[in-house]
This record gives sequence, C-alpha cells and structure tokens, in this order.
Amino acid sequence: MRHIAIIGSGITALARAWQLTRQGHRATVLECSDQIGGSIRSHRQGNYLAEEGPNSIQVNSHEVDAFLKSIPGLEERVIRASDEAKKRFILRDGRPHAVPMGPMSAITTPLWSLKGKLRVLKEPFLPPIDPELEESAADFVRRRLGDELYRYAINPLIGGIYAGDPEQLSLRYAFPKLYALEQAHGGLIRGAAAKMLASRKSEMPKVDKRIISFQDGLAELPSLLAAALGDAVQTSVLIESIEKAHEAWKIRWNGEEHSYDQVVLTTPAHALSKLPLEPPLRKALAFLEAVDYPPVSVLSLAFKRSEVIHPLDGFGVLVPECERRSVLGTLFPTSLFSGRAPEGEVLMTVFIGGERQPHLATPDTPALLKTVLPELKSSLGVSGEPTFVHHKHWSRAIPQYKLGYGRLLSQMEAVEQDYPGLRLSGNYREGISLSYCIEAALMA
Ligand SMILES: Cc1cc2nc3c(=O)[nH]c(=O)nc-3n(C[C@H](O)[C@H](O)[C@H](O)COP(=O)(O)OP(=O)(O)OC[C@H]3O[C@@H](n4cnc5c(N)ncnc54)[C@H](O)[C@@H]3O)c2cc1C
Repeated sequence: MRHIAIIGSGITALARAWQLTRQGHRATVLECSDQIGGSIRSHRQGNYLAEEGPNSIQVNSHEVDAFLKSIPGLEERVIRASDEAKKRFILRDGRPHAVPMGPMSAITTPLWSLKGKLRVLKEPFLPPIDPELEESAADFVRRRLGDELYRYAINPLIGGIYAGDPEQLSLRYAFPKLYALEQAHGGLIRGAAAKMLASRKSEMPKVDKRIISFQDGLAELPSLLAAALGDAVQTSVLIESIEKAHEAWKIRWNGEEHSYDQVVLTTPAHALSKLPLEPPLRKALAFLEAVDYPPVSVLSLAFKRSEVIHPLDGFGVLVPECERRSVLGTLFPTSLFSGRAPEGEVLMTVFIGGERQPHLATPDTPALLKTVLPELKSSLGVSGEPTFVHHKHWSRAIPQYKLGYGRLLSQMEAVEQDYPGLRLSGNYREGISLSYCIEAALMA
C-alpha cells in the first residue's frame, strides 16, 4: 500500500484518489480553497440551476462508465440528457441551422452550400499529412474538408469545446483522435468507416454512450467522490512546503509535516510554479506558465418560454467566427435536463470571450448583458427581460494545446524523470474534457 498526496481537488484529483483507494492505496487530497471540484461548479437558486463551468459529461468509454458506476450513491442522482441533446445548431447568416445527423440531411441542409458539400467528397482521396509536420486544427480541416466546412462546422465547434482559436491549436495535441484517424486510415471518412466496421465485428459489449449530469448539477460528482473518500479530502489547506527527501515526499501543510510515497500535482499549469516546491523543481516547472488559458464569461439566463420564439430543441447553438458575433455559443440546459428552471421558463447558458475575443469576457455583468441580449434577440427570438441572471467570470478558463505543445509535454516527462514519485496531471496534459480527465486518472 502506498500513500499518495494529490494537490488540488478538481475531477483529475478526485478521480485519481478514488481509483487509488479502490486499488488498496491511500490517497490524501489537498485543496487550498474551501470548495472541491475545481472548474465544476453548480449554483442553485430556488428552482434555477446554473452551471458555472462544465454543463455535462459525455460518457464514451467502458472505463468512464465503470468508474462512474463505482461511485457510491451516483446511480440514484445521475440524470441522462434527453434525446434532443443529439441535435446541435450552428448559426449561419444570423439564423440557427440544425447540424445534419445523417447522409440525407447532409445533402439537403442549408447550412452548407452545394460547393461545400461536393468538396467533402474529395476527402477520402486526399493523402495524409507527413507525420513530421505539425498542423493547426484549422489547416487540417481546410486541407481535408475544405474552407466552408471549416468555417461552418469545425471553427464553431472548437470555439465551443476549447473557447479556442483553431488557427493556433495543434491538431495533434488538441485533437489526438482526429490526428490518429488520418494517420492510421489515411483520412477521416475512411477512418470513420473502418471504426464503424470494427465496432460491428467486435464482440465487446457496446458502450452505452450518453450525456449525463445530476439532479442538482454537475457539482454532485465531486461531492459524491469526496463523500466516498471521507477525510482523505482536505479543503482550505495551506501547503507550506513540498520537498523530495530520499525515497519519500515531505509535505508540510496546516503546520504539520506528512510523508508520502508519491505526489500528484493537479493544479492548473500556471499555478504549478507557485506551489511551495523546492526552488530547483519550481524553476523546472516554470515553463508551464506559458500555457495559455484565455478568459471566458459564462452567463446563465432564464426567460419566460412564451418570450422565446426558437423551440430550443437541441443541445445548443454554436457561432462561427465569420458570423462576427460576441457570443461563442449558447447551450439550452432546460431542453437537456429537468430541474434547471421553473415551469414555463427556459434556461440558456451563454459563453463569451475565449481566444476569439478575450476582451469581451469581463466580470462586469451589466456590460455583458448589453452585449448578449440583442444577440439572443436576433438569433433565437428572445423578446422579454431575463427572469434570472447568474454570471461566472473565469479569468483563466481552459488550457490551449497550441502548435508546439509537444515540446511542453516532453518537458513534463523530463521533469517527472528527474523527480521520481512526482506526477503532473490535469486538463493541460491529458485532454480538457471531463471524460479525458477521468480516463487519464484511471490509467495513471
Ligand atoms: C467554462 C467551462 C466550461 C466547460 N465545459 C465542459 C463541459 O461541458 N464538458 C466537459 O467535459 N468539460 C468541460 N470543461 C472542461 C473541464 O471542466 C475541465 O477541463 C476539468 O474540470 C479540469 O479538471 P482538473 O481537475 O484538471 O483541473 P481543475 O478543475 O482546474 O482543478 C484544479 C484544482 O487545483 C486547485 N488548486 C490550485 N492551486 C492550488 C494550490 N496551491 N494548492 C492546492 N490546490 C490548488 C484548484 O482550487 C482546483 O480545485 C469546461 C471548463 C470550463 C472552464
């Protein structure tokens, strides 16, 4: 049995601690703030439920599925997104258009022109890129699918996932599965076909792919994990020093020194070199301050159902950069999950800022409303004033895996080799989605 200290209490830390505990090890989670969950925060106000960070988890693998099922009490609290979640909208010429879900709707959709659709047919015949070359996500999509699909499919999607700039994000590191699909199968359509065939032939039970949240919001996930971990989770901790001493790690916190076999650092990348580490290690981690986390404002707004013309019958609407709007995207939580707003009202979660327009993300709620409300009026037909407003400003929201990120990943490995028993983990390393954070915590 080993005793492992885990610094931070986001999903990476809690999933890792729970996995270690289940494997018979001892984990101690040390969180500096009085809240657990890191970016996962749900705000309940009467019958309104606003998510300040992530809105849902996409369960795509057996590993994540089994992990979630292992958490005591989770099955009674979990809620599954309605089937409407499959429908997504993209704004074009100021109007939301449903993203096609099958070949027939792809042919008939007004979201893309005939020329744009015909260009996609070339995709299976294009060669893969030389693996020596690193390409931006934007260049990759333009090369394989053409400019229109880039502008009216992938550009808004990347704005929605990363709040990022596709011209700067590295395809290989920000979207490793897409990169691997091209390298392994020669292209996206060939890769998708091969995967479909393999999954049909496979005798493995199919994953119950689903989008989930909880009755009282996503923050129930860290709460349930913390309850299962008991006093292994410590909040409001003041860490005074972290030092390597022969085979052990000595951590002094809240005035006492404790000894651990390993230490896992899961704070955001920019916070690592501010930890009270021994000076050479702190210096060795300083390169991670360069990881960019653009600001994002998350505005939750409720309206009377009768004062919104759009049926909001989907996951939400994403806004391409070329539409020149202030909003990155708007989610429709009341269409996905019950218990998000009072009867007769709808809730929207609006994202502003990111790499696209960092200056628009501001803690100033009235200024945001002035920007956002006219856009909701024109794109979704909102007429009334909001019945509920909740705003969370993230001055540093999501890490950006930009071109050249491979160098940073190699440097992280080098630091771990120099300091046995040290592990760097978190959404700046293993992927930003909650599912990736959980998968990484399970595999570490
Ligand atoms: C606005 C927003 C929307 C998102 N939407 C989605 C979504 O819908 N679906 C999805 O899958 N993902 C989404 N994500 C991404 C996902 O939420 C994050 O990638 C994930 O929660 C990060 O988890 P983490 O544990 O790696 O880091 P964090 O959650 O950042 O946790 C780091 C922890 O370290 C702690 N810490 C910092 N410094 C110290 C210190 N000195 N000592 C001790 N502790 C410290 C922090 O307090 C925090 O608890 C979203 C993210 C944001 C910001």
